[in-house]
Amino acid sequence: MTLDRPLRIVRLFPDLLGTYGDDGNAVVLAQRARWRGVEADIVDVRSGDLIPDDGDIYVIGGGEDGPQTAAARQLAASGALGRAVERGAPVLAVCAGFQLLGTSFLGPDGTSTAGLGLLDVVTERSTGPRMVGDVISDADPSLGLPPLTGYENHAGASRLGPTARPLARVRRGTGNGTGDGAEGVLAGRVVATYLHGPVLARNPVLADLLLAWALHVVPGSLEPLDDSLVDALRAERLASR
Ligand code: GLN
Repeated sequence: MTLDRPLRIVRLFPDLLGTYGDDGNAVVLAQRARWRGVEADIVDVRSGDLIPDDGDIYVIGGGEDGPQTAAARQLAASGALGRAVERGAPVLAVCAGFQLLGTSFLGPDGTSTAGLGLLDVVTERSTGPRMVGDVISDADPSLGLPPLTGYENHAGASRLGPTARPLARVRRGTGNGTGDGAEGVLAGRVVATYLHGPVLARNPVLADLLLAWALHVVPGSLEPLDDSLVDALRAERLASR
């Protein structure tokens, strides 16, 4: 399908949650849309801005604990993201962004902050060391994706409730940090993950899945692009020890 207006990619709080370069996820989405002849705008929503509820795709990244709490409070007060999810807008949420979509998350001082409740996930603090390093994971088979690669850097451990399903299972790395190999959450069109990279630059197939959902086309039907460099990087990561 072609839109009769540019695709609106809403990048939530790049000023608060930009620590890990996850801002790049919006750039990947916009560029891969443009390469297919679909006009795309990145709409930056900074702290204090009105949050639109008519975006086509929402992306939110990782960051430090204080800004994470500030972002969670503003999103909760707005309600816009919940409305967008209800009408089927795809969301990519990374690390802090993932944690704040859950029911609650714990700060380093033990304070619990309410999340948006869009995911059946509670985030506690890991009792072990901070989880830092390379990740390779196998995405839920229903998605038909090759192994995902990226890196993680978090102290929060995210426990999935009975209605949450992992996005992937780790081959390498920790993932959600609950000892069961689960990585991220897949809930309808909400994709949550601990993978930085940015995750969509490292795994453009995931970007195409979000684009297909936003454009209401069958996943896998978008015009193929030359991803040979990324494929080579994935092969190198899979072969590394
Ligand atoms: N502050 C959160 C944690 O340490 C999120 C970190 C991140 O976004 N990388 O778990």
